[in-house]
Amino acid sequence: MLQALKYDIASHEKELLTILTKLSLSIKEIDLVCGNPASDCKGGCIRRLLVKHLRLNGYDAAICSSSWPTNGKVAGGEYEYIDVIAESGFSNDRLIVDVDFQSQFAIARPTHSYATAMKFLPVIFAGSPVKLEKVLKSMAEAAKLSLSQNSMPLPPWRTLDYMKAKWLSSYERSFIDTSDRIRKGPGNSQWRERVRKKQCVEQLRHLKLCIAAEADKNIVSKPSSADRNRMMYLANNRRLQTGSPYFEKLKALASEKPE
Ligand SMILES: [Zn+2]
Repeated sequence: MLQALKYDIASHEKELLTILTKLSLSIKEIDLVCGNPASDCKGGCIRRLLVKHLRLNGYDAAICSSSWPTNGKVAGGEYEYIDVIAESGFSNDRLIVDVDFQSQFAIARPTHSYATAMKFLPVIFAGSPVKLEKVLKSMAEAAKLSLSQNSMPLPPWRTLDYMKAKWLSSYERSFIDTSDRIRKGPGNSQWRERVRKKQCVEQLRHLKLCIAAEADKNIVSKPSSADRNRMMYLANNRRLQTGSPYFEKLKALASEKPE
């Protein structure tokens, strides 16, 4: 099931994944500005930068903050991911994007089959809610099996209901770039900034390493000719200025020769 998902990628998903990969690799550690000092940023600064750059590239991208109340066995909580409203043919599609996807499924002492399932998960998830639900179902079943084989209890946050609440419950969409305000905010000394940033810097490094590893395995394929035409179209039509870094990036990507 998870293996099938890897090859079942619609062209607009592929296009988004390609640009997300390039943007993620281009983020510099110095650009990370962590949010609310009272709590952990948990990579929120990376997500804000990606949303900002996706919007500059003409995508209707936003930060989605989900929160859900305790309901029966499902404990309440909150989570943050990105979404992109894509135009595909005649219908408007919403794509859920998570750049910290794999680590959400890490469990203690995974069995060989769970570890194999983990390997089929993409580094960056970009897909429809329907597709995400299929992944969650597979991973919830795999986690249950792995933990029971090890005679370990199933933590409530590993159940399908909890995972569905995380990504598929009601959410608030926002795309205000607050980084300048935060940087100039009072009491935000450089030292405090560095200490708080540590976790996000590690997350960014991890993301880049995973992207590189995935590219090595050739899972991220070079753009096909149809994709290259689409990227040229994007570069020319999304009011990108010739000579701007984004235009040059898209142009370079579009002229890349397929293997
Ligand atoms: Zn941060």
